[in-house]
Amino acid sequence: MTYKNFTIETGADGIALITWDMPDKSMNVFTVEVMDELEALLKQTVEDAAIKGVVFTSAKSSFSGGADLTMIRGMFSMLQEATAKDPETAKQKLFEVAGRMTWLFRAIETNGKPWVSAINGTCMGGAFELSLACHGRVVANGKSVKLALPEVKVGIFPGAGGTQRVSRLTDAQSALQMMTTGQSLTPQRAKAMGLVDQVVEPAELVNAAKQMIKDGLKPVAPWDEKGFKAPGGGVWTPAAAQLWPAAPAILRRETAGNYPGALAILKCVYEGLQLPFDTALKVEQRYFTQVLGTTEAFSMIRSLFISMQELGKGARRPAGVPKSEFKKVGVVGAGFMGASIAYVTAAAGIPVVLIDRDQEAADKGKAVSEKLVAESVSKGRLTKEEGEKLLSLVTPTPDYATLSDADLVIEAVFEDRNVKKAVIEQVEAVIPATTIFASNTSTLPISGLAENSKRPEQFVGVHFFSPVEKMMLTEVILGEKTGDKALATALDFVAKIKKTPIVVNDTRGFFVNRCVFRYINEAYDMLAEGVPAAMIENAAKMAGMPVGPLSLNDEVAVDLSQKIMKASIADLGPNSVKPEHMALVDQLIDVLDRRGRKNGRGFYDYPAKPAKKSLWPGLKDLYPQKKASEVDVNVLKQRFLVTIALETARTVEEGIVTDPREADVGSILGFGFAPYTGGTLSYIDGMGVKAFVTLAEKLSREYGDHFAPTSLLKDMAAKGETFYGRFDPYTKVGAAA
Ligand code: NAD
Repeated sequence: MTYKNFTIETGADGIALITWDMPDKSMNVFTVEVMDELEALLKQTVEDAAIKGVVFTSAKSSFSGGADLTMIRGMFSMLQEATAKDPETAKQKLFEVAGRMTWLFRAIETNGKPWVSAINGTCMGGAFELSLACHGRVVANGKSVKLALPEVKVGIFPGAGGTQRVSRLTDAQSALQMMTTGQSLTPQRAKAMGLVDQVVEPAELVNAAKQMIKDGLKPVAPWDEKGFKAPGGGVWTPAAAQLWPAAPAILRRETAGNYPGALAILKCVYEGLQLPFDTALKVEQRYFTQVLGTTEAFSMIRSLFISMQELGKGARRPAGVPKSEFKKVGVVGAGFMGASIAYVTAAAGIPVVLIDRDQEAADKGKAVSEKLVAESVSKGRLTKEEGEKLLSLVTPTPDYATLSDADLVIEAVFEDRNVKKAVIEQVEAVIPATTIFASNTSTLPISGLAENSKRPEQFVGVHFFSPVEKMMLTEVILGEKTGDKALATALDFVAKIKKTPIVVNDTRGFFVNRCVFRYINEAYDMLAEGVPAAMIENAAKMAGMPVGPLSLNDEVAVDLSQKIMKASIADLGPNSVKPEHMALVDQLIDVLDRRGRKNGRGFYDYPAKPAKKSLWPGLKDLYPQKKASEVDVNVLKQRFLVTIALETARTVEEGIVTDPREADVGSILGFGFAPYTGGTLSYIDGMGVKAFVTLAEKLSREYGDHFAPTSLLKDMAAKGETFYGRFDPYTKVGAAA
């Protein structure tokens, strides 16, 4: 029998080698067709008496990435359509679809012949669950090999037996830790946890897997044997008494109860460990169905799985522009940002010249790469040779002539129009006509800066976030005259350095910073109302924000906020900044010299390590304080999310953001907007535009005009529309009202 996605070869030893190798795909993924074929393969190997056992492996460099995007999208469309017709039948159908993998893997586990998974490379999600259902697991020893059940990160959980098998192979605490965080495991860690049997050199992989069968591997899972005991000892032991009462509290501390997928893992493991295996699988299947039906799962899968991959693969790249080659990139300004931009460029294997005003300043910039490389080498992420190679790609110099053969030049000099103008002219004097010029400005409109350029169509904004080596987002900004080649080059570069791009039109603060300012401004309002600072910070975290607004303001520097607010007043007039906000920030900087983390004092105090930062007690004296009982934490939570979501809706209305996927992905990757919502626009769509408008109106009556819903929102509410419907990214991008 032949298969499209697999080959099967049976040797004289009676061991069938099944190799997963999907045509036209760089990575193996689970599709309906793959499951059909796997089922047929199982039948074939069971029926063929000559086959004594099966080794299952992959021909790709990785083992498998897990589920396929289109299959998941198809499942949600099916669910939506079926729910519209008959919600009860839809739920039943979803239950059946959700159980397909579960029972296929269980059939492999109980087929009567031994199966060994030979994991040759990274193995994620469903593929790891399949491997766990095999009777043996051998993993290739390699730095790039990672094993993970990362489903919780996209709002679901390992629902194909993962919660049951992991918690029967390792202790419950390690199982919960692994699955509720979705962390990646090295082969060694997986072995130490008992999740795999052997870690071998890659060339030995298939032989080692075959040897397990030849050595008499039993085709029975440990939990199917009489007398099986879970390694942690079940849920009625003294050890479990330490774990289980604390586990929900720990989860609540980490997730504020916002993630149904994470909570379901706890329930599955706790309940499952008390049940026979098949019943436990059914319990998992029920929770999985329930979680799949939540708004959180729908929105997180859409933004953090589907949209993120689509944007990463160039969803917004103009067609017809040849792929850019980067033989050399120039970075001008070797300061805080430029130095790190040079590092990520070299880390992507691209030679980079790092220019500053003199050799000393340029060398200081390269020292940042040296420090980051040393850290990576000491942690084993890079070998010494790889580190040296990376550093050899960074050339620090004050000489602009070295840019003469650069494909792309990124400027990261002072945030000053005149300094930038001089740099643009100096660079354009040496670069060829084909070179693209990108500015990393955080506040200056790109169209204005491009007026200093002789070729504004080659000029684009590429806005990085700090710390550059960690932040996954890059905002690409189109000036009025930015051409397709500049956009394509910027997107190709962002892809090369493995970040996710969003493309936005030109505006003050672009997309991300406009939203971030709203977040911080709301905290200023709350402070002025007398809300205790600790409540402000905690409410934000309970709403799902990773960092409280006051803490965030300290990180970006309070004096930077002052600078930006003053610039807004100068450019847009006194009404552009609330007087109470300006007064607060002026007092912090001009009177109290509290600039943030950088001078050890801001909204927080930063004592010398190992002491931890703590809120500055003097904040209490700035405004008459309310009692905690006078403040409704739920309203604080709503205010943070609504003010940011409203700002996003304004950027859509103004034509700054044109694709809802970019607002959602940008808001999560750029400033951590409550990931369980799926991002700012999914937050609105998730509750329904009408409900959002009602909520915003209510908040505007109590907390100010900035909560008033915009005309676009009112129009959408009246028509019963959603952002993903009206601005459907898969048809033509819709027009604002
Ligand atoms: P920085 O002060 O740390 O670095 C600026 C560097 O530019 C300095 O090393 C300076 O010597 C150099 N420089 C100044 N004039 C120059 C010239 N004529 N030729 C060559 N080099 C020159 O500033 P930064 O924080 O790295 O910010 C740089 C740019 O990045 C700004 O436009 C800023 O708005 C933007 N940005 C900053 C952040 C952030 O978090 N700091 C985030 C995103 C974007």
